[in-house]
Amino acid sequence: MASLAGRTGLVWDDGFVNYNLGPYHPLRPIRVKLTYDLIRSKEILKNEGVEVVKARTASRDEILLFHEDSYVKLVQQYSKNGSGLLDAGDTPAFKGCYEATSLVVGASLVGADSVMSGTLTHAFNPSGGLHHAHPERASGFCIFNDPAVVIAYLKLKYRIKRLVYLDIDAHHGDGVMYGYYDDPAVLDIDFHESGDYLFPGTGYPYETGKGDAEGLKLNIPLPPATGDHAYVEAFRQIVPDTVRKFRPEIILVQCGADGHLDDRLAHLRLTTNAYSEIVEEMHRLAHELCNGRLLLFGGGGYTLANVPRVWTVAFATLAGVKLDNEIPSDWAKEFRASAEEDPPQTLHDMPTNDAENVLRQVERVVSELRQNIAG
Ligand SMILES: [Zn+2]
Ligand SMILES: [Zn+2]
Repeated sequence: MASLAGRTGLVWDDGFVNYNLGPYHPLRPIRVKLTYDLIRSKEILKNEGVEVVKARTASRDEILLFHEDSYVKLVQQYSKNGSGLLDAGDTPAFKGCYEATSLVVGASLVGADSVMSGTLTHAFNPSGGLHHAHPERASGFCIFNDPAVVIAYLKLKYRIKRLVYLDIDAHHGDGVMYGYYDDPAVLDIDFHESGDYLFPGTGYPYETGKGDAEGLKLNIPLPPATGDHAYVEAFRQIVPDTVRKFRPEIILVQCGADGHLDDRLAHLRLTTNAYSEIVEEMHRLAHELCNGRLLLFGGGGYTLANVPRVWTVAFATLAGVKLDNEIPSDWAKEFRASAEEDPPQTLHDMPTNDAENVLRQVERVVSELRQNIAG
């Protein structure tokens, strides 16, 4: 088995909190800062081979690798005015929104450059994973789609021919999937709460890609209350084999925390245990198949007591650091002050039990998907 040693970087800039859609918006920028501070507070950054790297702002040309010029102009104009809606209403413009979202994209590009140049083996951008934005429009709280820009960038700058994009956000990563729907360089695997129940209402097993990319887009829509056991089982049945067969040169993981139990917008009921198992498996696959090259993105996540824990556990898993269950008191104090809520009591969740009927429902989805991609 390949060694899991390597350098793990957290891409950071204090400007991440400027991606702020307003005081009453469910996407609260403080969640990214609380993640950074929990990672620091748990002393993960003191380990050998773990470091913070500075983010940068993406250039207009880099954003244009995925987005249309007329849309980028619109964002720039609304950003200057500080008002306007960038989609039907979920994604309001704000003063400086062009700069704020260009920083998110640039942070993901720094992660990509670090991993491709070998200065890092794994990189995590907690502010990234804005997977709903389309080339010509904003959607679902996402102004520019940083994973989609990164994919185009990797193909252009590093001549990447095969990459895996795994998306475990509770919502379907429609911007990335349809952005590369006919692109055979991208194996896109997306687990999400079924579009029958949740935004954006897409991502069914019959959507398998087109042209040369037929069979390379895998959608696994899951019922509400899926839980760890059925979720991880479906993951194990589909992901390792498919990824090994594809032989990627780099692996991208969008790690939205809104699949977690008690999320305010979604209902998949995962615990930190499912996240650590999945990230650990992707970590092992990256070392086995592509010299460890793995980029981790944040994503959704709307319950402040969960998001920092999920992402801290995910980052520690990549860094190979084992964490105890303690919530440091300095961080708890900061949480209380900035979130104006009670802090979580433990870092990890207790294991949960799933209902039998959910297991059977998920098995049906997996076998439907298998039939669709077998052809
Ligand atoms: Zn590693
Ligand atoms: Zn989401």
